[in-house]
Amino acid sequence: MKDLPPRRLLLVHAHPDDESINNGATMATYAARGVHVTLVTCTLGEEGEVIPSDLAHLAADRDDTLGAHRIGELAAAMRELGVTDHRFLGGPGRYRDSGMMGTGQNHRPGAFWGADLDEAAGHLVEVIRSVRPQVLVTYDPEGGYGHPDHIQAHRVAMRAADLAADPAYDAVPGDPHTIVKIYWNRVPRTVAEEAFARLRENAPDSFGGTAAVDDVPGVVDDERVTAEIDGSAHAAAKTAAMRAHATQIAVDGPFFALSNDLGQPVFTTEYYELVRGTAGGDDGVREHDLFAGVPGAPGERA
Ligand SMILES: [Zn+2]
Repeated sequence: MKDLPPRRLLLVHAHPDDESINNGATMATYAARGVHVTLVTCTLGEEGEVIPSDLAHLAADRDDTLGAHRIGELAAAMRELGVTDHRFLGGPGRYRDSGMMGTGQNHRPGAFWGADLDEAAGHLVEVIRSVRPQVLVTYDPEGGYGHPDHIQAHRVAMRAADLAADPAYDAVPGDPHTIVKIYWNRVPRTVAEEAFARLRENAPDSFGGTAAVDDVPGVVDDERVTAEIDGSAHAAAKTAAMRAHATQIAVDGPFFALSNDLGQPVFTTEYYELVRGTAGGDDGVREHDLFAGVPGAPGERA
């Protein structure tokens, strides 16, 4: 692709809504700075539970039309974040939501959990060799919380990063491209604990209860977190993007709930662990820019 902005950020997620919950403030921040933000979503989220009762018929065990509906929700969320380049891995519907671990959906034909790793990674290599991002954001090896599609998204992202850089890999056209920095989504444990303490004091009546800190994907001891992006200036865009995923997320002020109706805090500062590449700042000091130290990336446009 020609004429892309000099800085390019790729995010790989499992289902529509994961990007807004995990990285909505980061995506809006970088999009506003003129960075090219590319989102690749691996499934349509067909197995999600539906929150609004008037849309309950979309669910997989009824009309099974949730996937098509969630394409529209994701598009609306991306408009809120200012992200124009969003794609589905291998095209919409190529891989189906595998459902929660241990369910019969994990092994149905087309389920992402059963995808051939190199074939799935090949679809992502196409994107990487075309867009040529310097920074990749995805999940940790446990997928943050053990959902099979999140684990698989991690595997596909890491495998694709390796294949895209390999001059010998010619199953996909395009010049080899090495992603300079790879980050996994994180939340520092003390930040999560403080946010949940505030939530318990101010819990909205609209939720049936409060989630636990360990229900939040990617919570780790603070010292593992190497970067934080303060997206508070884009908090409204993040919550608007989350609201756009109306079948999956109920937002109430600075809090939200998934279909389990347990309140969680919306994090507008988002956190990362650098797992490949060199941190741009001083040793032991958290980065405040995912592009810090990236060669050839010019300063931010204010
Ligand atoms: Zn998900």
